[in-house]
Amino acid sequence: MARAKDPVCKMEVDEEQAAGQSDYEGHRYFFCSTVCKRKFDQDPARYAAD
Ligand SMILES: [Zn+2]
Repeated sequence: MARAKDPVCKMEVDEEQAAGQSDYEGHRYFFCSTVCKRKFDQDPARYAAD
């Protein structure tokens, strides 16, 4: 089971159960909720740092 870290809230999410995903600068990010995905999409540079 693949795990990823939601870059917005720092929660661990299961990639298959993620509420959303976004690609930014060659990296794929997964989100626990559509709220986190929306925040990321509005300002990806702020969250993609780590
Ligand atoms: Zn989240």
